[in-house]
Amino acid sequence: MTTTTGRRVHPDLAHHHPRVTRLPHGGWTWGCDCGGASARSVVARLTWHQAYVGALIHSASIAP
Ligand SMILES: [Zn+2]
Repeated sequence: MTTTTGRRVHPDLAHHHPRVTRLPHGGWTWGCDCGGASARSVVARLTWHQAYVGALIHSASIAP
């Protein structure tokens, strides 16, 4: 049996700076310079916290 490392650590391979913005219709979204953003086809509006968490998850991910 082999052991695979589930965690990939790539320090400073990519920097993400997602920003949480408020939509004119209400609700919040986040977007990043790399093109990442919260799902466009979201029917339910995100709360600020949901958008913030989404941005945090994105900022923790590494761009391909
Ligand atoms: Zn990004």
